[in-house]
Amino acid sequence: MKLYNTLSRSVEELQPLNPPVVTMYTCGPTVYDYTHIGHMRTYTMVDILRRTLTMQGFHVKQVMNVTDVGHLTSDGDTGEDKLEKGAKKYGKTVWEIAQFYTDFFHSAMKVINILPPDVESKATDHIPEMIELIQTLGKKGFTYETDEAIYFDVSKFSNYGKLSRQKIDEKLQAVRDEVFEDPQKKHPADFVLWFKRVGKFADHTMHWPSPWGEGFPGWHIECSAMSMKYLGESIDIHTGGIDHIPVHHENEIAQSEGATGKKFVQIWVHPNFLQVDGQKMSKSLGNFYTYEDVQKKGIEPLALRLLFLQAHYRQSLNFTWESAKGAQETLDKLKNTVLTLRSQTERSMLSEDKLAKIDEYRIAFRTALANDLQTPQAVSVMFEMLKSNIPSEDKLDLLYEFDEVLGLDLAKTEQEKIPDEIIQLGWTRLQARQAKDFAKSDELRKLIEEKGYNIEDREETFEIIKKNR
Ligand code: AMP
Ligand code: ZN
Repeated sequence: MKLYNTLSRSVEELQPLNPPVVTMYTCGPTVYDYTHIGHMRTYTMVDILRRTLTMQGFHVKQVMNVTDVGHLTSDGDTGEDKLEKGAKKYGKTVWEIAQFYTDFFHSAMKVINILPPDVESKATDHIPEMIELIQTLGKKGFTYETDEAIYFDVSKFSNYGKLSRQKIDEKLQAVRDEVFEDPQKKHPADFVLWFKRVGKFADHTMHWPSPWGEGFPGWHIECSAMSMKYLGESIDIHTGGIDHIPVHHENEIAQSEGATGKKFVQIWVHPNFLQVDGQKMSKSLGNFYTYEDVQKKGIEPLALRLLFLQAHYRQSLNFTWESAKGAQETLDKLKNTVLTLRSQTERSMLSEDKLAKIDEYRIAFRTALANDLQTPQAVSVMFEMLKSNIPSEDKLDLLYEFDEVLGLDLAKTEQEKIPDEIIQLGWTRLQARQAKDFAKSDELRKLIEEKGYNIEDREETFEIIKKNR
């Protein structure tokens, strides 16, 4: 299995620390607003990675956090806590906000067929682990305290910047314009491990006792603490969107490697953004759609999944309604193919060359995915296979096998049921026709068509067919 590693900027062979187990940590959502389809793209690509590894015989152990405290609006140390901001905006408690958007996140993952991680853990359930880790860092000389917070001192960690390849001085340049709120902070790239409940955070709702007084953790420490707790000090794969590279993941490396002295992550995998009109789809820009917005336009979340698969995860993908509709049409065709293949149940004798062909398609599919998850190629192998002369039943078997990874849920395809209301309209129309009331019969045909169906006359009866979207 080859994967692009952001750390080395090259495609590498995955060499798990304890094969066949592969440990994978996935940065989860900050639950202060709706999960949008940009988030869904990142988690879909991680799901494909996980399913690919499983197909290859690895035993994946995946942990994902849910951030419900400490993530400030800047990703750094300035701004408001996103959860507190969400609570104010909606007139709810922070706990209600976290629960509501966690539930929404789960429903978004379910409709797009993303397998749940083995462990999903909330930041607020791991405060003692975070405090312990900060204490370890303190003992090793990586921290300092101001009146407002406990900081990680990046000048003490010689490898700081190895992931983003940003020099600390450049980072200084980049953040110079930021409102600098804590006058005792030594270096702008230093980051908060623990916020004290003082100053602008004096009224912070979520707070816990700590050796440094009441307060709450900084955002980055949760991932180091939870990764270590559930997966050990060194892990195989860590995932997150590309926006995490320069700050969040850089800081996770500093904290984890500072504390253990060991390499934190073998391979860093960062899916690129879903964009709208050339800009990142994001909560803060307000240019986002949820899966519900997509459904309202007659597009299934699984069509989005297909759309995501048709682009490589390291490329940005510009979202348009045209492309989403196109993906829905392709998905509809795929489902029709499944229904047709199912009705052709005869399994003919497999000749040598057909057997060889099945193997060829299987190998081509697996090779595409093993090569840094070339999903567009894997999808086109699937379509080529469907066009081939392999017997129907074998085709269907192979399609289902591919779908174990692609996750389009094709095995669950069912003939769409025509609603009773439409069938009733059909009968009323038949009666009108038999009574030679053609004006009424035409009117009813129109009504049926407006509702998305076509009606065809048969002798003494009729057939209703759902229109293509
Ligand atoms: P957040 O809840 O903002 O921490 O984001 C959760 C995950 O979604 C992170 O891995 C982000 O990098 C990722 N993400 C955020 N916006 C987008 C986007 N427009 N396209 C793809 N991934 C995104
Ligand atoms: Zn994280």
